[in-house]
Amino acid sequence: MQTYIIHYGELGLKGHNRIDFERRLVNNIRTVLTDLGDCTVRRLHSYLVVEAATDTPSEVLESRLRRIFGIAYFAPARVVPGEFETIAAAALELADGVIGPTTTFKVATNRGNKRFPMTSQEVSREIGAYIVERTHAPVRLVAPEVTLTIQIYPEATYLFIRRIPGAGGLPVGISGRVLTLLSGGIDSPVAAHMLLKRGCTSDFLHFHLLPTPEAIRAAKIVGMARAVLAPHRLAGTLFMVSAAPFESALATTNSRVITVVFRRFILRVAERLARRRKALALVTGDSVGQVASQTLQNIHLIEQATTWPILRPLIGWDKIEIINLAQAIDTYTLSIQPYQDPCSIHSHHPATWARQEEVSELEAQINVAALVEETLSGYVETLPLTW
Ligand code: ATP
Ligand code: MG
Repeated sequence: MQTYIIHYGELGLKGHNRIDFERRLVNNIRTVLTDLGDCTVRRLHSYLVVEAATDTPSEVLESRLRRIFGIAYFAPARVVPGEFETIAAAALELADGVIGPTTTFKVATNRGNKRFPMTSQEVSREIGAYIVERTHAPVRLVAPEVTLTIQIYPEATYLFIRRIPGAGGLPVGISGRVLTLLSGGIDSPVAAHMLLKRGCTSDFLHFHLLPTPEAIRAAKIVGMARAVLAPHRLAGTLFMVSAAPFESALATTNSRVITVVFRRFILRVAERLARRRKALALVTGDSVGQVASQTLQNIHLIEQATTWPILRPLIGWDKIEIINLAQAIDTYTLSIQPYQDPCSIHSHHPATWARQEEVSELEAQINVAALVEETLSGYVETLPLTW
């Protein structure tokens, strides 16, 4: 059996919230590890324990745990009962081969069990002394090469050296649902990821100009939505909506505010689909000033089209920061594959400073309200994303 101790961020977790958080996290971990065979996840005092069969590859286990939101850090641990002699023996075994005569080290003890007869400092000091006696290694309390952690709880004591940082955030599912407006680009999948990190689940909406149901189902957008949900084994819905009615309404126009009008149209449709799915907010990949539709003036005009909250988690990010995260969450490769985004068709010379009057004029001319109804009634393909 291999054992991992899992710690979550406790800050701000009180009463009922805390129980919900812990239960959700346990369920999420179970879901993500379910195909790995014999895994159990248990909730103890203020931490979780994952036990897996010895033949479960630890790289796989760890790479999955690293991506689960709500985990502050985790560690492969040795578990022993709570007597000092047993703890000391386990510490020496753990130090063996890791702490050599020149390795700087320290012992860090936490005592979740206040009934334990020694203080944390006493435990650290005595076990540290044993290790020095055995290895002659130098103790260094600040920035040592190796930290041997001992966590003493009423149920058991855990010892570990390798502490693996978790993804932080809140367990997915705890914060409700959002609808992410997914384009073919780099930013929007990253935006969805950021909301998942804050405990939301997400559905997706994409406007396309694809000709056939087959082309729609084969579009890279499907893979992008899946890639965002995959580390969490989350189910979701992807609305593939044809921009064809909108495009044909504009066939005879060559306005410089088309991009703004299109983005407003997208939001109107999005709000309606969000209501259907009980998604309480819309998410976009906007970042101030990145492209013409994202000047503050245009964001201002675009936002007026809906009463639904629009969340823009990347609003202050530089492109390079967004790209780095896109690579880390495995959406980048799909994002840079060539794709005809309807947005790029009509925005040859988009206005960076659209005027309200121009926008209203064009919207009246093409009768946007009717276009929204037409689009919703005949141009929405609903794709379930399941595991
Ligand atoms: P991205 O990298 O996400 O494509 P971008 O820098 O290309 O963003 P825009 O094309 O102005 O910027 O789009 C801004 C946001 O509007 C996107 O992040 C996305 O949330 C939404 N959006 C754009 N095009 C579409 C589309 N075809 N379908 C759905 N949402 C879209
Ligand atoms: Mg784009």
